[in-house]
Amino acid sequence: MNEQLELLVRLQAIDHAVHKLNASRTDLEAEIKKTRDDFAREAEDFNRLNQELEESKKNLRSEERTLQQAGDNLAHYEKKIYSVKSQKEMEAVDHEIKAAREEKGKLEESILYLFEAIDKLSAKVKAEEEILSQARVKLEKGEKNYKKQLAQINKSLKFDKVERENIVGSVRPDTLSLYEKLRINRNNLAVTSILGGACGGCFMTLPPQVVNEVKPNSSIIRCQSCTRILYWDGKEE
Ligand SMILES: [Zn+2]
Repeated sequence: MNEQLELLVRLQAIDHAVHKLNASRTDLEAEIKKTRDDFAREAEDFNRLNQELEESKKNLRSEERTLQQAGDNLAHYEKKIYSVKSQKEMEAVDHEIKAAREEKGKLEESILYLFEAIDKLSAKVKAEEEILSQARVKLEKGEKNYKKQLAQINKSLKFDKVERENIVGSVRPDTLSLYEKLRINRNNLAVTSILGGACGGCFMTLPPQVVNEVKPNSSIIRCQSCTRILYWDGKEE
């Protein structure tokens, strides 16, 4: 094979591998981002529910204190009724007792409601805690896998970079510039083999004469349609 053509075939193989590695890295980053986002969302849900629960417990404590006061208040008037001196005073204390009982009743109802709400919230917090714990396990696994795979990809990329530099150093400048121009304009594929008598890049059928010219791989011949560099890989006769 023509030395320059052979270098270009090798260069193309490396660039193809680099392209695939970069795509894998993008996928890997998207995957870990999703796992991280999922975890962050579950953590947020858990914190919100937990905060709601704490708030309800605080309310309950406050209502219980108020109930205690209301109870003391009622006891005070219930005691006072034995020492009233007049009918008018009796009516006033009676009125206070009614009001205190009503308030106590309302508070008891409110406390009951809070107890129920706390029960429901506690169950929700517990369920969300389980979900969060699963998301954490998934995240930890994901981070480990991400780190491992990223290291492998970066290692391969580093290896390919060195290999590429070695090859590039031997390619003639005009040939290299043609290759780079084609690679940029032709979707990262500048050099292609012939497949079934057609260009492996644009799939346009090549004139038999062009196929015959390409077969010995003795010079740089380009597809008349897409201008990619053609070579014969010997896989078909
Ligand atoms: Zn073509």
